[in-house]
Amino acid sequence: MKWSWSFSARRQEERRLAERRRRRSDRPGPLPAVRERTLTLPFPPTNKDFVQNNRHQRTCDQQQSPFFAKFPEEIRYLIYREVLAPGDNPELHVASADQRLLSRRCINENRDVPGLEHRCWGRHYKQDGTTARNQNMGGYEPEDDSPYPMRLGLLRSCRQAYSESIDILYSQNTLSFRQTRTIVDFQRTIIPQRLHSVRSMNLYFLLQLHWYGTRLEEIEHIYPFDIPFFWESTWKILAEMESLQSLRVEFTDGRVDDEYPPRDAVIHLLKLMTAVKFPNYVVQFDWAVEVDEFVGLLGNNLPFEIQVKEKPVQPVYYW
Ligand SMILES: [Zn+2]
Repeated sequence: MKWSWSFSARRQEERRLAERRRRRSDRPGPLPAVRERTLTLPFPPTNKDFVQNNRHQRTCDQQQSPFFAKFPEEIRYLIYREVLAPGDNPELHVASADQRLLSRRCINENRDVPGLEHRCWGRHYKQDGTTARNQNMGGYEPEDDSPYPMRLGLLRSCRQAYSESIDILYSQNTLSFRQTRTIVDFQRTIIPQRLHSVRSMNLYFLLQLHWYGTRLEEIEHIYPFDIPFFWESTWKILAEMESLQSLRVEFTDGRVDDEYPPRDAVIHLLKLMTAVKFPNYVVQFDWAVEVDEFVGLLGNNLPFEIQVKEKPVQPVYYW
């Protein structure tokens, strides 16, 4: 019938437009092919007072600063490490915000709180799950109450300090993400060398999905409307990360009326995850999945260990 055809075509068009908006909304611009200023020193520091790089930018070797003149490299490393990747608190949350990515040091101490729900991610969100500004403050919430605020000012202080320490930020932290779009934007906004420095990642994903046989769709009114668009790109990026040693993926089902994510949808997602290997690779579910059934469907040589850590049953109050 003509009317049903046009209705279905309109639905399809609406979905296509929604997808295009989602892919473009508020995302940071990609890294330019040539940067106006070189951030990292292109060659080791020399003893000259000033050196010129090939883009005619002046770089001071900072010998007037006791930090560089008096501290040996090893001591400077320890200071950088304490500021950018404290050994006792290495998890660094990375979140999408307006046309930028935000990083926040994890301060969660209760291991029973799922990574997805850490309060360290912030308290203000847009409907698509990205971090929003606090309207009362006119900006993003600061990390003032954190014992480990991110002090990126050190990286901005001078090119010498930046060059010596930037690798620590990527290689010594456990970077955690809870949206696939953030991972895609992370890859688009840093140079490949940084991506290849990352050694440890945690991913916390909310699965509220419909499955239509061959197609995934998020339950639209609940955030984050994310995975169906960026899942493939995410696993392609992870597969290319040369130094990634440890990957932990935690799925939470965000249960609504006791409906679990459809098994076939989960298997569909896991299939891409079986194509990559890491020395330490764990996939955790917070609902009672049938592990043997999953192994049967995915093959015996799973590259990851499956863990089930069911969330506590919510107490029921009567009054
Ligand atoms: Zn946290």
